[in-house]
Amino acid sequence: MAEKITMGADGTLHVPEIPIIPFIEGDGTGVDIWPAAKLVLDAAAKKYGKTVEWKEVLAGEKAFNETGNWLPDETVEAFRDHLIGIKGPLTTPIGGGIRSLNVALRQLLDLYVCLRPVRWFTGVPSPVLHPEAVDMVIFRENTEDIYAGMEAEAGTPEVEKLRRFLADEMGWNVREGSGIGIKPISEMGSKRLIRAAIQYALEMGRESVTIVHKGNIQKYTEGAFMKWGYELVREEFADVAVSWDDCGGKPGSKVLVKDSIADITLQQVLTRPAEFDVIATTNLNGDYLSDALAAQVGGIGIAPGGNINYVTGHGIFEATHGTAPKYAGQDKVNPGSVLLSGVMMFEHLGWTDAAKDIITALEATIADKVVTYDFARLMEGATEVKCSEFASAIVDRL
Ligand code: NAP
Repeated sequence: MAEKITMGADGTLHVPEIPIIPFIEGDGTGVDIWPAAKLVLDAAAKKYGKTVEWKEVLAGEKAFNETGNWLPDETVEAFRDHLIGIKGPLTTPIGGGIRSLNVALRQLLDLYVCLRPVRWFTGVPSPVLHPEAVDMVIFRENTEDIYAGMEAEAGTPEVEKLRRFLADEMGWNVREGSGIGIKPISEMGSKRLIRAAIQYALEMGRESVTIVHKGNIQKYTEGAFMKWGYELVREEFADVAVSWDDCGGKPGSKVLVKDSIADITLQQVLTRPAEFDVIATTNLNGDYLSDALAAQVGGIGIAPGGNINYVTGHGIFEATHGTAPKYAGQDKVNPGSVLLSGVMMFEHLGWTDAAKDIITALEATIADKVVTYDFARLMEGATEVKCSEFASAIVDRL
């Protein structure tokens, strides 16, 4: 019988034989990529005698058309109740109350880690000479920073009030006609994110965690993020991890925790990718860095992501690209992003054999040059196939 995934008192997930997993198909190309991904996920699970009972929940345009609500309460409750879910891309409503459905879901469930593994799969076309040197896992803080949604528009009474307060109380003169955004970075928010990154490095046998920040300029937000990270290493991980300063860059068998300024990092992930392993960073830096890195290994068509709260056990895995409306319903785009998000989800559930098999079959398909349009246009002698055909080709190679 199908059952919910639960969180044990020991902080580990209990995954039943047949877990019920809520999914949002997604807007635009969601109708193409979700069925394709599901085909592969189900086939790989079946090889190991596993079954997922998928439970559709609504969000985005489909929800709006059927219920008049972009993000129905039942959808949020289904994710809250079943702990783990997956979603396709969602249209960002223009105008109206919700800034972004993705951000709303992350905030409502306090999914404080945006996890973006970035690695190259054999055969995937890449703009760099050695894409195989890229094997990084980004932990992007998901709830704070300039993304927290505290912004006041230029010319409004709110911004004038804020401007007056800043002038009167702080002596800070903000130019007239400015919009103002607030960038909160807290000790709790920083430490839980960096803690998750260090724990991941330890569990996965990774060598280092690099804290990426812009603390040379933004001292009390980005700089504090770094400082709290190093504090955490000494407070909670002294026996298993060590900061660069405390070991002179020679960590022995411990995980090395170092830091790097955001702008230099964007250069060095290109010029010296092998020096980066796990990355822990703030929200905005993480946004730029994950897309830049995705381009290095084949673009957003195949970049997966997960939004996770390791304390409550909640996690929503998602395609990282948008709805690509111009291709919607054409059975054309690459299902790789949502499929690999499903692979991350399987790994998270402990279904590592099925996850590995999908990666091997995906690599074999690309090695045979059977690919969707986005890769076909970059490869010599490729056979361009539809989204659904690409999924079937992967299943054939499972
Ligand atoms: P987009 O949907 O990501 O599409 C931009 C381009 O990326 C596409 O034109 C296509 O490039 C490529 N692409 C996207 N998905 C692909 C796939 N599966 N396979 C291969 N290539 C793919 O970005 P957008 O056009 O800026 O945004 C459209 C809507 O999506 C907006 O409403 C936006 O708010 C929303 N959005 C949602 C999410 C999310 O739900 N996570 C994320 C970002 C944006 P080519 O034209 O070169 O083929």
